[in-house]
Formats: sequence, C-alpha cells, structure tokens
Amino acid sequence: MPNQPGQSPVLIVGGGIGGRAAALALSQKGVRVQLIEQAGEFKEVGAGIQLGPNVFRMLEVLGLTEAVSRFAVFPENLIMLDAISGTEVTRVPLGEGFRKTFTYPYALIYRPDLLNVLLEACRKSDLIDLDPAQKVVAVDERNDGVTARTQGGRSYGGVALIGADGVWSTIRQIVVGDGKPAVAGHITYRAVLPTTDVPEHLRRWSMTFWAGEKVHFVIYPLRGGELYNLVAVFHSNRYEEGWDSFGDPVELHERFAKTCEPVRTLLAKIESWRMWVLCDRPPIKDWSRGRITLLGDAAHPMLQYLGQGAGMAIEDAVCLANKVEESAGDFVAAFQAYQRARYLRTGRVQIMARVYGEFYHASGVARELRNLMLSARTPEQAFDSMQWLYGEDTGPTGYGPVFQREGAAAS
Ligand code: FAD
Repeated sequence: MPNQPGQSPVLIVGGGIGGRAAALALSQKGVRVQLIEQAGEFKEVGAGIQLGPNVFRMLEVLGLTEAVSRFAVFPENLIMLDAISGTEVTRVPLGEGFRKTFTYPYALIYRPDLLNVLLEACRKSDLIDLDPAQKVVAVDERNDGVTARTQGGRSYGGVALIGADGVWSTIRQIVVGDGKPAVAGHITYRAVLPTTDVPEHLRRWSMTFWAGEKVHFVIYPLRGGELYNLVAVFHSNRYEEGWDSFGDPVELHERFAKTCEPVRTLLAKIESWRMWVLCDRPPIKDWSRGRITLLGDAAHPMLQYLGQGAGMAIEDAVCLANKVEESAGDFVAAFQAYQRARYLRTGRVQIMARVYGEFYHASGVARELRNLMLSARTPEQAFDSMQWLYGEDTGPTGYGPVFQREGAAAS
C-alpha cells in the first residue's frame, strides 16, 4: 500500500474528469486521496462528449463500464458530410466490425452524466475526501511531502500532489512555468437541445458532422435520445481567451452563411449557445517535479478535434495509479515513470488534433482532395487509420505505455 492509514493523502487539485478518475484509480490501489476543487459544488455545464474504445478500456479497469453504459448512446455510424454541398463524404459503421476490431465500443455521453458516475464512485470510497470551494493558489514542496495552500488561507498536507486543474492550470505554472496556453483562433459554440426541437429528418442515431471551409458542425444524440448535442466550430480572431461564456449568435450565423440547409436549420434552432475559445499547447515531455505532477489538460491540453481530451485524462489516471503501485510509495519515481509512459501518446494526440482541425476546415483544392480521399475509403481502411488511437497495443505512441512496466518505457 503506497500510503499507510494515518499517513498524509495524495492531494489532487481539480475535480474535473481527470481529477475524479485519478482519485478513483489511486483509491483502488489503496492510496488515500484528498480531492480539492475550486467550484462551490462538484457540478458541470452540460455538453456532450465522445468516448472512444480506448476510454472504455480504461473504464473497465476502473469498474465503471456498466455505470457509464447506462447513460451512454452507442451510435450506429460516424457520418461526415460536406457542409457546403450537403453531400455525404463518408461513413464509418460502428457496429460489429468496429467492435471486433477494437474490442470496445464508441459512445456519446452527456458530460454531467460521466462526471456524476465518477463522483458517485469517488463518494463510495472511504479513501477519498472531497473538498469543494477551495481554490489552490500555492504549493510548497519538501523532501518528505507537499503543502497546498488555498485562496481562503487553508492548508492541506500531502505525500504528493497531482495538478488536474485543467487548461489554465495553476499547478503547471509551478511545475513547468510556461505561461498561458496558445489560443488557436478557433471558437466552439455548444448547445444541448431536447429532441423534440430537432427536425425529424435530422435526427440520426449517429455522430453526424458537416465539414466546411473554416467551419464545421456536429450533432449527435445523448441520454437515450432524449437530447441532442450541437457543436459549431469556426475560425475567428476576435477572441483572445476565455472559457465557457455566452456566445454571440450574430457572428456564428455569419460564419456559417455559406453552409447547406440542414446546418443552417439546426443553427437557427438554438437561442442560447455557450462559447469556448479553444486553446492548446505544444507537447512537452517533462511535467513532473519531485512530488508534484500534472494530469489531463494541465499536462497536455489539446484541441477537441479527435474528441480525446477527457479520454487522455482518464488514461493518465489509470497509468498514474499503476506507476504509484509499482513504485511502492516512491512518488518521485512513480511520477517520472508515469510521464515517460504517457508523453509520446498524449503528444501524438495533441499534434494530430491540430492536423485534424486543418483537415476538417479545409477549403479549395484541399477540401476537394479531402472529400475524394475519404469517400474512397472502405470501413476496414477507416478502422486501420484509427488503430493508433483506439487499438490495443501499437507501440510507444499507442496503448502499450498505459500499462508499460518500468524499464520498457520509451524515453
Ligand atoms: P477540466 O475538465 O478542465 O477540470 C479541471 C478542474 O480543476 C475544474 O473542475 C476546475 O474548476 C478545477 N480547478 C482549476 N483550477 C483550480 C485550482 N486552482 N484549485 C482547485 N481547483 C481548480 N474530450 C473528450 O474526451 N471527448 C470529447 O468529445 C471532447 N469534446 C470537447 C469539446 C469541446 C468544445 C471542448 C472545449 C473540449 C472537449 N473535450 C473532449 C476535452 C475535455 O473536455 C477536456 O480535455 C477534459 O475536460 C479535461 O479534463 P481535466 O480534468 O484535465 O480538466
């Protein structure tokens, strides 16, 4: 057992998807955890997220497959259309062939439902203490432990600390000190509609997405088809930074003016959108210092184009807990082993998310080429292109490192 009863807990700063998954994964290894969240309640703004087979592999390790599946939608296809002509470019079937290839399914889930499943599991553990309404502003590190201090003047002592405090991470500035994340110049508007507000001909049991010129639009069902998640993304230089504020529908409609009828019909259905100014960072390989490490968006913030930010945070959590167990209480060694096992995979997702953003928003000849290449693909070829991300064990940047033993890691 890496920390004994009566010993200080591991402190986790940030109770989002990554922080909760890490708390759970560590508790399952017998580690006591103090989870510290700045928000007054462990609550979440509604939106949908995609969960690839790689995430289900981790959910199985965490014992959450059934709980998550109760809330998830398992779509039939990934469908891509051209946002200007409206014609279908390609579809990837997610049924038997997909599941046979990747063992696990692809699903869509309402974010608060995923967070609740994680929270309920954390609440059931005697080894996890949850503390909302505490914003960590400073961390002191000693040879034998850490102390986190909050804005309100509280102190928490711990054997080690994990910064799972998101893209604007305070802990990253302590460990890495590389300033603000990079604003991508891409804006995302998200909204969730009751199904009754979605025109019948546009309701599909699929993840449907229209790729346009410097814009794309996504729609998919959530919660057994009770809700639909709508995501509109466009390029804009008007915004510097920010997270989750109300959007400006005038600009949104202007940017999508050239898109086909279904996209504009869906955009018109929404009165209130929430807006995200997308940010990421270039990958790094060193996000630990002594007894402090980072996890999820704090370590490797990425654009959302592969739908993997939460997935990578959950993979991090499982990997980190494995390394803590293997190092038998040596947190410094565990954190080094964890980042060595993770940085190539998460770095690849960060880089490929940028590439996919370009691909989805291509114009002119690039758009024609994209459509031509994708329309010629068989489902098997599509599955092959997803192996590195969804497949079981595809080398140092694939899955292997999640469970890789010390000594075999890429460095
Ligand atoms: P966060 O979710 O940001 O959680 C950080 C937590 O830390 C927050 O609760 C915050 O309040 C708390 N915190 C911050 N600072 C402090 C502090 N100083 N003290 C205490 N607490 C603090 N991912 C997917 O896997 N699939 C998708 O389909 C997908 N779609 C996305 C669509 C959009 C538009 C966006 C923007 C993101 C999407 N993502 C998706 C990415 C995903 O949402 C993030 O990668 C994921 O939420 C990261 O989790 P995290 O726990 O690392 O950080």
